Amino acid sequence: MEGMKVYVIDTGRLHNDMNLTFAQAVQATRDNPNPDIKWLHQPTYCALIQHPDAGWILFDIGTNPDVNEQVTPGIGAGWYHTIDEEDQTMVAQLAKLGLKPEDINYVVMSHMHIDHIGNVELFKDTAEFFVSRAEAQHAFCAVKGSLDPATYGFYYKPHVLADVKKYHYVEEDEEIFEGIETILIPGHTPGMMGLYLHLEDQDIILASDGCFGSLIWDDGKLPGSCGDTGSFVKSVKKLKKLQKKNNAMVWFGHDLEQFNNFKKIPEYYK
Ligand SMILES: [Zn+2]
Repeated sequence: MEGMKVYVIDTGRLHNDMNLTFAQAVQATRDNPNPDIKWLHQPTYCALIQHPDAGWILFDIGTNPDVNEQVTPGIGAGWYHTIDEEDQTMVAQLAKLGLKPEDINYVVMSHMHIDHIGNVELFKDTAEFFVSRAEAQHAFCAVKGSLDPATYGFYYKPHVLADVKKYHYVEEDEEIFEGIETILIPGHTPGMMGLYLHLEDQDIILASDGCFGSLIWDDGKLPGSCGDTGSFVKSVKKLKKLQKKNNAMVWFGHDLEQFNNFKKIPEYYK
């Protein structure tokens, strides 16, 4: 769509054993029975879309600086987040365009994990939210179905149950604004959702955790942390089919090498 722009927003780095992201990325063998475990350093980021009709739309709202205290203990033991540069916060990133959180008109949640909706407090009173119905149902059940936060996985109750102004529940692949289509890609979570952006110069697929990185896309690795691996693989196939049609760029959920090559806010894609 003419006039639509996309900015990349950096909200810090996640660090964890590589096997948590890519199944059997480092594996013991008979010849090498004690290989070194590798730590993976991954970006957490969001896409800010400037849409000629709808205004400012955020795809994912990133990780907040308190996440290490919020994450459930089991996950927190093998996973931590850092802010390495002062400006790796949502507020500082938006300020690069002179924007404040209340300027954002819409938020699209790829899924409701803690590293993707960590800044919900900043937007809940002023933006309207899109989330897939399957994701909302799953996340609400995860945090309401048990009193024990240790069972919530990557969901953080105050985020999931935040009293947002309005939810639009997405049930199928559909155009939500001119040039912006949802893509349901379950697997990592039951209601994982990407976006297809029809820009003037190129198409971009925001895959989020529908595909963590090039080890999955190019090398066929399986995901380490995954609700349903069979669905995940089917969803990657769906993304690949979509990608081929218009030779779209695919933005992975947590690929540091790809991320380092992105133009960052205030630069943009159009
Ligand atoms: Zn993630």
